[in-house]
Amino acid sequence: MDLSYILNEMGEEREDYFRAVAPPIVQTSNFAFAKVADLRKSFENEYATWLYSRGLNPTVEILRKKLAALDGAEDCLVFNSGAAAIFASVLANVKSGDHIVSVRNPYTWARKMFDDILPRFQVTVTYVDGTDIAHFAGAIQPNTSVIYLESPNSWFFDLQDLAAVAQLAKQHQIITICDNSFCTPLFQRPYELGIDLVLQSATKYISGHSDTVAGVLSGSGPMIERIFNSEYMNIGSGIQPFNAWLLIRGLRTLPARLERITRTTATVIGFLQKHPRVEKVIFPLDPAFPQYELAKRQMSGACGLLTFIIRAEKCSTIETFCDSLKHILMAVSWGGYESLILPKCAGMPADAFDPSDPGQRSFRLYVGLEEAEYIISDLSRGFEAINGLS
Ligand SMILES: *Cc1c(COP(=O)(O)O)cnc(C)c1O
Repeated sequence: MDLSYILNEMGEEREDYFRAVAPPIVQTSNFAFAKVADLRKSFENEYATWLYSRGLNPTVEILRKKLAALDGAEDCLVFNSGAAAIFASVLANVKSGDHIVSVRNPYTWARKMFDDILPRFQVTVTYVDGTDIAHFAGAIQPNTSVIYLESPNSWFFDLQDLAAVAQLAKQHQIITICDNSFCTPLFQRPYELGIDLVLQSATKYISGHSDTVAGVLSGSGPMIERIFNSEYMNIGSGIQPFNAWLLIRGLRTLPARLERITRTTATVIGFLQKHPRVEKVIFPLDPAFPQYELAKRQMSGACGLLTFIIRAEKCSTIETFCDSLKHILMAVSWGGYESLILPKCAGMPADAFDPSDPGQRSFRLYVGLEEAEYIISDLSRGFEAINGLS
């Protein structure tokens, strides 16, 4: 389907709302009926009618059509966070006594669900190094019901061969779920590679302006309808109309933003790779990346998230680098207009810092919509500040 059609027209019935170019925010909790017969029909199948905005809402509906089409899927649900999409997708496909195979180091709140919540219901998890398909095959048990993927994953960007994992899972009747936040559906389509459920944090590139938290879950029509009628309605974390409207607005410029960020990221990587304080830059579409061939095969782009490791002996050197930046903000999340940096050592006590572990000397950098020179001059300021420091 044509990308411009999806983003500019799909799902938008302008004749229904004064031919307004921007869709209305249907900010209502409930919908009224003139006839008992109509109300009864709605109770019988809420998935087909406007009844109550915890379920379906017309503004959200426009967004759902566009997002499902972008994923190449039949249908999707939009949640009030990526974490809610993760929770619903997994909960919908496990029962007591089941087993999950997950990539090691999935997103923090996926991991917390696996480690803290699911064991209370006798659901167990095996974490595998997802860079080798044999590790998935070796971890499958007779009670495995879900394989959970995130490709690339955050910080070090390990990939999984999505088509190969999907094929393996199908042989064992296992549901595959993939977190696609890093690439967005513009640059990777796991559903088309055979993955059953694809999710992304729409907080990142879809919103694109660091002003909305949301999540998308796409899949087959029957699977999504089943999740709507159960987990979606029960968790009650569907996206609100105003936030849906912000995401529709974000979608209008998604390709333009990603194109710009892709170009700027290449320039910033070039700068970092030449800098004497930089030991390593990790980016899936860099020819030096260990899984570069797989990245090229299943991803058509990699946007603006990268990790770099600097030479340093002391935690304070890393702190000085970050503290001296003036434009690049120190904050979690990514995908917005603003460049962001996170030092790995912020997630641990400073006195536990071990310089022999390169991971502890790493920074996750998100390249935003600023001019490349603006970002590079700020990074130079950081390097200048640690010049002479070990
Ligand atoms: C941010 C993020 C999430 C969670 O999304 P929220 O919208 O913050 O709930 C999930 N997966 C990845 C890879 C993320 O970066």
